[in-house]
Amino acid sequence: MGDPAILRDLQPVSRQKREQPGQEGAPDVEAMARAVRDFLDAAGLPRSDANLAQTPERVAEAWAGEFLDGYRTTPAAALGETFPAPAGSSGELVVVTDLRFHSMCPHHLLPYAGRAHVAYVPGEHVVGFGRLSALVDCFAHRLILQEDLAREVARALAQVLNSPATACILEAEQACLRLRGDEQSDAVTHAEAYEGTLREDGALRRELWARLGARRR
Ligand SMILES: [Zn+2]
Repeated sequence: MGDPAILRDLQPVSRQKREQPGQEGAPDVEAMARAVRDFLDAAGLPRSDANLAQTPERVAEAWAGEFLDGYRTTPAAALGETFPAPAGSSGELVVVTDLRFHSMCPHHLLPYAGRAHVAYVPGEHVVGFGRLSALVDCFAHRLILQEDLAREVARALAQVLNSPATACILEAEQACLRLRGDEQSDAVTHAEAYEGTLREDGALRRELWARLGARRR
């Protein structure tokens, strides 16, 4: 049996750790599985149901390994190696469209998924295109609202690459909206965030939307 005083002292530390995004903090998968079992029990579901026998472990592993693993990385780590911007380039947009992503609504723990379009003007550095997808996942694989996801991606890209202009545009299908309440089964939610000179609705923003135009539904 653990000493209650020790447990009391430990709890704030572990909680504090979890509240800092990007900090190393391995999830307790076994405790998560127990919590899922408690949830199923509390919902009145029979433990004799063979289909539910391994459900707690499956759910815990999926959440720890695929839905919440973004907490265990940082934007800089996700973006990885940076390279010097090509000589002579100045102010041209780099745009990558249709990056598939999935995330979880923090209010209902229901999924949303869709496409991310990411753009930036290189400062001194550029990254490989594939790293932009990893950056989206770094934040998407957390409990985060779609609006905040767009903002975090645009902000991190500006900070890590010291970019003068960044954007993240997300279109998604939200299970919250499609399956609950009004059951808007065809609704598509859009969120967009800009940093730097793309915040102003100027020529650069128009150029971005000209490139994105054909990609929108
Ligand atoms: Zn929700």
